[in-house]
Amino acid sequence: MTLSPQPPDGQADTEAVRICQDLLRIDTTNPGDGTGPGERPAAEYVAAQLAEAGIEPLVVEAAPRRTSVLARVAGTDPVRAPLLVHGHLDTVPFDAADWSRHPLSGDLYDGCLWGRGAVDMKGAVATTLALVRSWARTGRRPRRDIVLAFLADEESTGEFGARFVASRHREHFADCREAIGESGGFSVPARPGAGADGDGARVYPVAVGERGTAWMNLTTTGTAGHGSRSGTDNAVSTLVHALSALAAHSWPTRLTPPVEALIAELERILGTVIDRDRLEAEAVRLGRVGELFATTVRNSATPTVLQAGRKVNVVPCSAHAQVDGRFLPGTREEYLTTVERLLGPGVVREFINLEEAPSGDHSGPAFEAMTAALRAEDPAGHPVPYLMSGGTDAKTFARLGIACYGFAPLLLDPGLHYQRMFHGVDERVPVAGLGFGVRVLDRFLGTY
Ligand SMILES: [Zn+2]
Repeated sequence: MTLSPQPPDGQADTEAVRICQDLLRIDTTNPGDGTGPGERPAAEYVAAQLAEAGIEPLVVEAAPRRTSVLARVAGTDPVRAPLLVHGHLDTVPFDAADWSRHPLSGDLYDGCLWGRGAVDMKGAVATTLALVRSWARTGRRPRRDIVLAFLADEESTGEFGARFVASRHREHFADCREAIGESGGFSVPARPGAGADGDGARVYPVAVGERGTAWMNLTTTGTAGHGSRSGTDNAVSTLVHALSALAAHSWPTRLTPPVEALIAELERILGTVIDRDRLEAEAVRLGRVGELFATTVRNSATPTVLQAGRKVNVVPCSAHAQVDGRFLPGTREEYLTTVERLLGPGVVREFINLEEAPSGDHSGPAFEAMTAALRAEDPAGHPVPYLMSGGTDAKTFARLGIACYGFAPLLLDPGLHYQRMFHGVDERVPVAGLGFGVRVLDRFLGTY
């Protein structure tokens, strides 16, 4: 049986809201240092939602309370490779004093569910669960087998989530060739100042890749001694000179195929010419849609941590820094060579995290099916490819040879700024947007 074009039964929308609200009320903040409450209660909740729908959950723990849930839903076409749908259960921390409503309240207010994780990404987890539960009620089925992964620890390194299941439960993903996950399929008003309906134009970025990650520890050493002595063998001086060279470097523009495609699409949608020689300025001019390429036209190396010395008149024997490096698909070797050259001799570099930049196909059948599903639910919408500036669990699954897309469809009011709510204050998701997500996901999984 293939899916009819009708949306899933009305109960799915209601369930998406209920499940999202329930998840928002479970604290899964992940500070990244092991002090968080863990994902276990959220994972148990998800497992129960699946079991109730006759889907057998596999609950796994990488460490006490660091819990993930895996499951599989049978499709109608066993010839097609299964599709992985992954989402994370953890959230970044919050400071409740800064929020208008408590970040664990799950309050339904002003048409939105409020709470940490509303857009990143308990809303999408709820959408997926509501959809598979709706399939179970109605007998509808996806076309491919769907492999579900609801994961711990995405907001840190994924060591207790995606990386754990990818290594210890690899068989679960063995036949997956493609995956969808967070950070794509959300709506962005095409023009600055667009109203509720605006001029109708919404852009839906679908992520087809990510910049790679090169998080570095830098260490310099020298001769310890009295601060009054002058000398060149000073660990602090060596480090700040190296960091200064790195921070001052102007990374060249590199237009990767998906970003070039994005810019060309935006030119067509907006009826404007985007100057390739001044892309940062053009990104500012274009406002919200400009943000979709502002940080993915070049590599970056941002110093973030600096540690050295304990007393003003004592030269320490070592100095330490950390740098958050990001590189575009296909530029890894060039990037690492440049970093090495800029840092110069005398700086020991270790990688805290070095992960390849995954890059998918923005013109293949998977991308086509995602854009068709979005257009069917929003005929005035313009799906476009884009690259993610940062990283997600997609990097881990890409290492298994799975082509990963950022596609967690969500319709937002023009006033809600998706990227700013990510890890931001007053994170919230419109309940109508969740229903939209269920329907788009249903169309995609039903036809692809
Ligand atoms: Zn996320």
